[in-house]
Amino acid sequence: MWSKWIEPDAENRIWLSMNCVLLERPTLGGGIERILVESGAGGKWTAKEEAVYLFERGVDGRVRTVEHALREIGVDPASIKHVVLTHLHFDHAGGLTRFGVGGALELVFPNAQVHVQRQEWLDALANKSTMSRTYLPANLEPIANSVVLHDGDVEPIPGICVRSAPGHTWGHQMVIWKDHEGTICFAGDTMPTIHHSHPASSLGYDMLPYQTMLTKRAMLDDADREHWRLVLDHEPGDCVVQRGIRTTN
Ligand SMILES: [Zn+2]
Repeated sequence: MWSKWIEPDAENRIWLSMNCVLLERPTLGGGIERILVESGAGGKWTAKEEAVYLFERGVDGRVRTVEHALREIGVDPASIKHVVLTHLHFDHAGGLTRFGVGGALELVFPNAQVHVQRQEWLDALANKSTMSRTYLPANLEPIANSVVLHDGDVEPIPGICVRSAPGHTWGHQMVIWKDHEGTICFAGDTMPTIHHSHPASSLGYDMLPYQTMLTKRAMLDDADREHWRLVLDHEPGDCVVQRGIRTTN
């Protein structure tokens, strides 16, 4: 069924993105407040792992990270005040850290609070997953003093809401905010690509596939009723969708 939708390469891989969203708004003091949703997989990979995942490379020949992407648009990672993550699997939390001089782990966003669900943080520390190598200590230990833990549906940053969205993991969350055109929902791995809009399409590593289906159905109902735009985290094409119609921004 999937091969009708996406053609895999000879190694049976498909192209996926790790989409991150940068939100900016003016502060009363005349500055800019910056909030990042998601951080991608980062660049702390061995040559073998890079070959397995076939990560895209930046102009410097190294694995392209969210840090590359931000610097390309003139944004200093130190100016990011908040990072909101849907969950802590490596392709979402890896971009928070990098190897510094001498190989020591460093924070890419030294001045940011990292917002996740308490359940997700506890499950990550306990490595509670069917994938044994997705909650990586190198991604978790350095952020222990940066995390702000949330329980369920809250507004941790004025105007930015998180909503419990269990299924992919127990502590998975969606991120919801408004712009001048209406409500935007970053769906996370509840609906990673446009093909996952089908109710029965789930990820092989969802912890609770049936719950994913229920969470996704509720999200799509809300999106339809309230005219949300959805941002799809792993969609390699146009990642902003509205009521079944793909848009291009
Ligand atoms: Zn995941």
